[in-house]
Amino acid sequence: MKIKTDILIVGTGAAGLYCALNLPEDKDVLLITKATVEESDSFLAQGGICMLRDEADYEPYFEDTLRAGHYENRRESVEIMIRSSQDIINDLINYGVDFERDEDGSLKFTKEGAHSAPRICFHEDITGKEITSKLLAAVRQRSNLHIIENMKMVDILTYEERCIGIAAEGGDGKMYEISARFTILATGGIGGLYHNSTNYPHLTADALAIAMKHKIVLENIDYVQIHPTTLYSPRKGRRFLISESVRGEGAILLNARLERFTDELQPRDVVSKALWKQMYEDDKPYVWLSMENIPKDDILAHFPNIYRHCLEEGYDVTKECIPVVPAQHYFMGGIHVDKHSKTSMDNLYAAGETSCNGVHGKNRLASNSLLESLVFAKRAAKRIALEYNDYEDIAPDVDIEAYRGCDKDYIKIVRSEIERLELMHK
Ligand SMILES: Cc1cc2nc3c(=O)[nH]c(=O)nc-3n(C[C@H](O)[C@H](O)[C@H](O)COP(=O)(O)OP(=O)(O)OC[C@H]3O[C@@H](n4cnc5c(N)ncnc54)[C@H](O)[C@@H]3O)c2cc1C
Repeated sequence: MKIKTDILIVGTGAAGLYCALNLPEDKDVLLITKATVEESDSFLAQGGICMLRDEADYEPYFEDTLRAGHYENRRESVEIMIRSSQDIINDLINYGVDFERDEDGSLKFTKEGAHSAPRICFHEDITGKEITSKLLAAVRQRSNLHIIENMKMVDILTYEERCIGIAAEGGDGKMYEISARFTILATGGIGGLYHNSTNYPHLTADALAIAMKHKIVLENIDYVQIHPTTLYSPRKGRRFLISESVRGEGAILLNARLERFTDELQPRDVVSKALWKQMYEDDKPYVWLSMENIPKDDILAHFPNIYRHCLEEGYDVTKECIPVVPAQHYFMGGIHVDKHSKTSMDNLYAAGETSCNGVHGKNRLASNSLLESLVFAKRAAKRIALEYNDYEDIAPDVDIEAYRGCDKDYIKIVRSEIERLELMHK
């Protein structure tokens, strides 16, 4: 089956949707997603999205991002992200995103680990759902934007070393040849490769594997973030995140003897290491998190989703500690892109968690990822609009059936490559 579109976006998380909304309205844009549109990590984001509040906070925000990233961040990308943040938040508000407000109507900010000041906009503890559902609603209103669900990219199609579309497997079991002048990979993270992860299991680093196969430049693919606090469960499956903003608002970590053992507001990698050490010393598969320092009304108002979920699992966070354990959470590395989100292959862009523009360095600062995804997805859209007329359409002539199942082997390869690099750097 053949599909022709002007611009193709693979992935309907925050990066894919926002990129689509920033592309010229006279271009036909197709978005595909491997699952349903609601099944993206963007819907799961809890804590919030950062914003530069005023000029006085520029240096501290920049420094917090670099410190969390072990100073391996691309400074230019960090500057672009921070400088673009107010525009992005205003844009989101115009799309109807309902951020929490103070009594005087101004934006209310919260704080998370490794932030030296409150600068995070939020909506209860379901900020990602609030943002992504509003972007999705806006996409659905635009007649040039079309979404196909349950369609999996299995490879990219190339001609003279430029990308001319993709090969995809539809939910109907048919193979599709989708040709497009520009393709944007917005396929999210890699949590599906791990046993313990907060990510959706269908996020199996497909774009990364495909990029590796085509020798597209990758960057820091062993920089994988472990979140220190997910709700412990002996069952298999996606781990439920206990947002860092819970600790930002006063929750503390306790060992088996119910004693504090670390500073809860250090960067995530440092706190995760402290948890592992403590779990080892206690010989337990978890440590305790206590929210006793947060007033009950604040818990119910700011963290209703966490409160409800823990209750369903048998824990009342307003009265008792909950068991928490670190789990894979975020991918700082990815497909190398420049400041316009272009990959090393012509006509191929990447945005969101699957890309690496260097913002996060070795470790991501909390609530920087939604912002980074949106800032650089918009930059991809603007660049493609500028470059669009410099290229012609190429109609690929391929045996599309030959691509059936071709993704299986290289997903294994990407997993072992990540493991190899992680071991090398331990
Ligand atoms: C539990 C949780 C809480 C978080 N909290 C925060 C937070 O508070 N603040 C913050 O800034 N960040 C947070 N993050 C991180 C943030 O949500 C993600 O980094 C961000 O949403 C990534 O957006 P994305 O568009 O790149 O990817 P996603 O939203 O994951 O979307 C990926 C898309 O790609 C599609 N896809 C994947 N492979 C294929 C394929 N082969 N073919 C077709 N489609 C494919 C998927 O179906 C999906 O539509 C959190 C993440 C998690 C998991």
